[in-house]
Amino acid sequence: MTAIPPIPLNTLSSALAVRTHCPYCAFQCGILMGEDLGADMPRVSGDPHFPVNNGQLCIKGWTSSALLDHPERVTTTQLRDSRGEWRDASWEEAFDFIAGKFKTIRQRHGANANGVFGSGALTNEKTYLLGKFARVALGTANIDYNGRFCMSSAAAAQNRAFGIDRGLPFPIADLEHAEVVMLVGANTADTLPPMMQWFDRQKKARGRLIVADPRRTDTARAADMFLQLTPGTDLALANGLLYVALEERLTDERYIAERTTGFDAVRAVALQYHPARVERLTGVPESQLRQATRWLATARASMVLTSRGTEQHSKGVESVHSWINLMLALGKVGKPHSGYGTLTGQGNGQGGREHGQKADQLPGYRLIEVDAHREAIAKVWGVDPESLPRKGKSAFELLDSLGSEIRGLFVMGSNVAVAAPHLSRIEQRLKSLELLVVCDSFHNETSAHAHVFLPVYQWAEEDGTMTNLEGRVIRRRAVSRPPPGPRSDLDVLRELAVRLGCGEKFAFRTAESVFNELRRATAGATADYSGITYSKIESSDGVFWPCPSEDHPGSLRLFAERFHHPDGRARFFAVEHRPAGEEPDAEFPLFFTTGRYKEHYNSGAQTRLVSRLRNAKPIPRLELHPRLARRHRVVTGSRVTVESRRAKMEFVAEVTADIRPDTLFAPFHWGGRDAANLLTSGVLDPISRMPEFKLTAVRIAGVRP
Ligand code: SF4
Repeated sequence: MTAIPPIPLNTLSSALAVRTHCPYCAFQCGILMGEDLGADMPRVSGDPHFPVNNGQLCIKGWTSSALLDHPERVTTTQLRDSRGEWRDASWEEAFDFIAGKFKTIRQRHGANANGVFGSGALTNEKTYLLGKFARVALGTANIDYNGRFCMSSAAAAQNRAFGIDRGLPFPIADLEHAEVVMLVGANTADTLPPMMQWFDRQKKARGRLIVADPRRTDTARAADMFLQLTPGTDLALANGLLYVALEERLTDERYIAERTTGFDAVRAVALQYHPARVERLTGVPESQLRQATRWLATARASMVLTSRGTEQHSKGVESVHSWINLMLALGKVGKPHSGYGTLTGQGNGQGGREHGQKADQLPGYRLIEVDAHREAIAKVWGVDPESLPRKGKSAFELLDSLGSEIRGLFVMGSNVAVAAPHLSRIEQRLKSLELLVVCDSFHNETSAHAHVFLPVYQWAEEDGTMTNLEGRVIRRRAVSRPPPGPRSDLDVLRELAVRLGCGEKFAFRTAESVFNELRRATAGATADYSGITYSKIESSDGVFWPCPSEDHPGSLRLFAERFHHPDGRARFFAVEHRPAGEEPDAEFPLFFTTGRYKEHYNSGAQTRLVSRLRNAKPIPRLELHPRLARRHRVVTGSRVTVESRRAKMEFVAEVTADIRPDTLFAPFHWGGRDAANLLTSGVLDPISRMPEFKLTAVRIAGVRP
């Protein structure tokens, strides 16, 4: 459908081509990299043998090498001078300055006054070491990461329902064999373009695709059925489908009895979601509710895949539960080419949430409040379990406490000054810090507030592992020689640990040696990587976790026999539709929802630097329906001021019938005055602590030509 065809391999020097992976999203497309003969920039081609993308790349992957020798690359360590200007510094001076400040803050305000903010883009090795650095070197409870803004609702619901959180419990290739796939709040044509090949194959095999989204996206255009639901009503939609399944006796009662617990309460709730009521709540006609249910229920193999559209809500966890409930009730989860999955977003969004950079977790998906888990990790780290901090603040709460409870912040690979909600507030918080350290390759909106900038290697300059959206652990390889100046994130953590008095616990010289400690730390845990080795990954297309021993082949599919709760049964959770944290009203009558362009990745810190991507999408444009546009005398190109309870901002309008008349859409890839997150709220899901990015009440406050 929309993926860009692979580049001919003869653009690479085949003798030098190395198999590695795209730096951006969780599809982790296989790429081939090598020095192009006659040019000095490494070149990229899709890896035709990697069985996830099969040689296809999107425009971001195709242009991914452009950053490696980009003129704006920072290669010198920088400190602020007395006038607030950057000045060059040696690494030694920077390390000494940071460690000194961390110690002073700890002495004056306690260990939890230092915080750490990580990223779903970091390798498993960095994720693991950053969590250890926070708990052992800094002794702080306050570490979290930007994946909290991405996958945390689906992760929490899967853990509760299945006892394990692997985004997809089956390989992506299973899509081809599913008779029906329902995508909820997922625009894969823009976010994961090479994934569309699997829907092409599925359709060729006479499969059907259902898409539920407030916008008629390119993904929706490829669907056999499109449900254009009201923002924030995914849960009501799923309960409505379950009502139909119950009414038409399409549930699998034997499966429910043998493999699950808790269905009676769910049945009682679902029976309150008559299609007429659900049509009023969601805007989806009863005929579509019935047809979608019949397709999912009667197919030999069917699956529901959710993404941020369902998950980034103040009821995100419950919304995911509603879809899991439906697929459990239909008896599909764990059956061949069937079930429920979430499409993880960030490059290492999966591994990033498994190895200890979340406020409530330790490596291997161990829980920081469980004594046995604390003891297991303390033993590997050689520390007293009592010395490990307890659960810290979640991402938004951590950022919201900067300058008050938290005085020093260490940021690795994250651009919080674009990605966080209620940005004007978060920017004020960043400005009030005594110490802000940013480790990155380029300056960004967050480093604009930093006191220290540490220039680090880029993705193609160092080794490591990533875990893609299927739970497949893969190798990222050092292909390109870094310029003089930058250092590895792993080096940075080691040098700081030395100055904080615990260098012996961070004495790793290679990524592989960190991975080997990670393997020991995860042995026997839910996310067990102990049987995965670099050489095992080298000799395969990746290894699926859990993999508890070196002779174990890895776990391609989960749930065929049992779920990961001690009794082997999946859990139903009775969930009810409820209003969003901020529903439209007379004052702010419109929904505002955020999303992505296919040309940009997350905060845009990297992709806005790539000229081909920037030229294709230089600014965020506000999508609005022609009926709404007429009412406000807006045409495409008009400048429209949108106001929420927190901020006003101006967008260039794009009038399109693809969006609901009650909804505005803008992408969130820009900072400063173009930051869509100036409008969004800090309302959080009570379980996952996910901010409600997908639903903000706004009004049109002005229009100019
Ligand atoms: Fe593949 Fe994602 Fe990279 Fe695009 S951004 S090439 S879909 S890994």
